[in-house]
Amino acid sequence: MTRTRFAPSPTGFLHIGGARTALFAWAYARHHGGKFILRIEDTDLERSTPEAVQAIFDGMAWLGLEHDEGPFFQMQRMARYKAVIKEMLAAGTAYPCYMSPAELEALREAQRARGEKPRYDGRWRPEAGKKLPPCPSDIEPVIRFKNPQAGSVVWNDLVKGEIEIANSELDDLVIARADGTPTYNFCVVVDDWDMGITHVIRGDDHVNNTPRQINILKALGASVPEYAHLSMILGDDGTKLSKRHGAVSVMQYDTDGFLPEAVINYLARLGWAHGNDEIFTREQFIAWFDLTNITPSAAQFNSEKLLWLNQHYMKQMGATGLAPEIAARLRSKNITPESGPDLTAAIALYVERCQTLNALTNVLLPFYREATPDAALLAQHLADAARPALAEFAAALETVDWNTAAIGAALKDVLKRHGFKMPQLAMPLRVILLGATETPSVDAVIALLGRERVLARLSGYK
Ligand code: GLU
Repeated sequence: MTRTRFAPSPTGFLHIGGARTALFAWAYARHHGGKFILRIEDTDLERSTPEAVQAIFDGMAWLGLEHDEGPFFQMQRMARYKAVIKEMLAAGTAYPCYMSPAELEALREAQRARGEKPRYDGRWRPEAGKKLPPCPSDIEPVIRFKNPQAGSVVWNDLVKGEIEIANSELDDLVIARADGTPTYNFCVVVDDWDMGITHVIRGDDHVNNTPRQINILKALGASVPEYAHLSMILGDDGTKLSKRHGAVSVMQYDTDGFLPEAVINYLARLGWAHGNDEIFTREQFIAWFDLTNITPSAAQFNSEKLLWLNQHYMKQMGATGLAPEIAARLRSKNITPESGPDLTAAIALYVERCQTLNALTNVLLPFYREATPDAALLAQHLADAARPALAEFAAALETVDWNTAAIGAALKDVLKRHGFKMPQLAMPLRVILLGATETPSVDAVIALLGRERVLARLSGYK
C-alpha cells in the first residue's frame, strides 16, 4: 500500500513551498488509496517552537490536507532511535569515533590547505586487520555510520530521473552526537522505515541527504522507498521565494482573503500539469495527480493567477456561500452586518469586481457604516449646477417604488429635465453615497443602500 509523509521541521510558519510538498504527498496517497502521515521533525530544539507546530496544524487544516496517521513527533521517539543505534553498533554497521572537535577541525584545516574537500578520514573506522588507537577516557565518542566505500548509490528519482553518487563521495556520517542524541538524517531514516513509507516526496533541498539515507536503510535491512524531489518555487520575479514576495505563510492567505480551494488549485499547478487544465476541483486533482507529470525545473509563483483563481472560486461559492465569510470579516472591523443592507444582495452586486474576500469586504464597508465623502473628490465631481438636480432626485426618492428599475427611471427623468448626461449626477451620487467613484450601476447601488440611508446621506447636499 502506498504510504507518503509530510515531515516539516517546526521552525516557522507553514510556507507555500512546504504546503505544496504536503499537497503532493497527500494527493499521491489519496490517488493510490494509500495513507498520508504527518511527522513533526522537532529535534532542532533551538529552532523548533510549539507555535510553529500549531502553525503547521492550522495551515494543514485550513487547506483540508487531513492526515491518516500521526502527528508523530521525533522528540517522542528518542528511545527508538537510540535502540537502533545500539543494534547498529552490535551489528558493526556503526562505530564510535573518539576524535575530539579540535582534532576534527585540525583535520579539516589540513584538507582545505591541500585543496581537498573536508571529510572524515576514517581513523576510528574498524576494519579487518586495522589497529585502532586506544580509546581516550576523557572523550565521549560520537557514533558514525560505516558507509560503504566501494560502488555507488543509485536511485531513480521520480522527478529528477536517475541519480548516481559514488560512495567515495560520502564519508562516515555522524548518526549520534557525543551526548547520545541522534542526528537529523538518522531520525529521518528510522522514521521512514518504521512508518513504512513507500514514497518520499520532499523538496529538492534534501536531495544531497538521499544517498546517505539509502545507505543507512540498506544497512538496516530496510526496504528503500521511492524518492521524488520537488523543485523549488521562485517568486514572481524569478528569485527564490521569500518574505519579500508578500504572503509566504499559508495562513497569511487566509488573512488576506483567499479561499483554501483557490490556494490548493494554485499550489497544484506549481510544478505539475494536467494538459492545459487550470481550474479543477480537489477530487479531479486527486484523480489526475501522479508523479509522472511533475516538472524537474523550478516553478514560478504568479500572484495574478492566484488572484484570478480566487475570484473564480468566490464566484463559484456565490453570494449565499460567501455571506458568512464576509460577515465575519465585517465583524472583525467592528461592523454589524445586520445593521445595513442585506449582505447576500450586497455581495451579489459586487462579487464580479473583487478578487479577494478582503477586497469584497472593503468595498462593502460604506454600506454598513457612515460614509464621509472625501472633500477633494466631492469638489471634483459635484458641480454647483448639479445641486438643484440632485435635490430634485432626492425628493423623487422619497416616494419612488424602491427597486432598481424605478430608481433608474426617476434618475433618467431628472437628467432629462436638466439636459444632463448620466455621469453629471451618477458621479456625485457615488461620491456622496459611498465615497467612491467606481461602483456598480448607480440605481442598483441606491436600491441596495436603502431609502433611509440614501436620503440621510443626500440630505446635506441639496
Ligand atoms: N524536516 C525536513 C524539512 O522540513 C523534511 C525532511 C524530509 O522530508 O525528509 O525540510
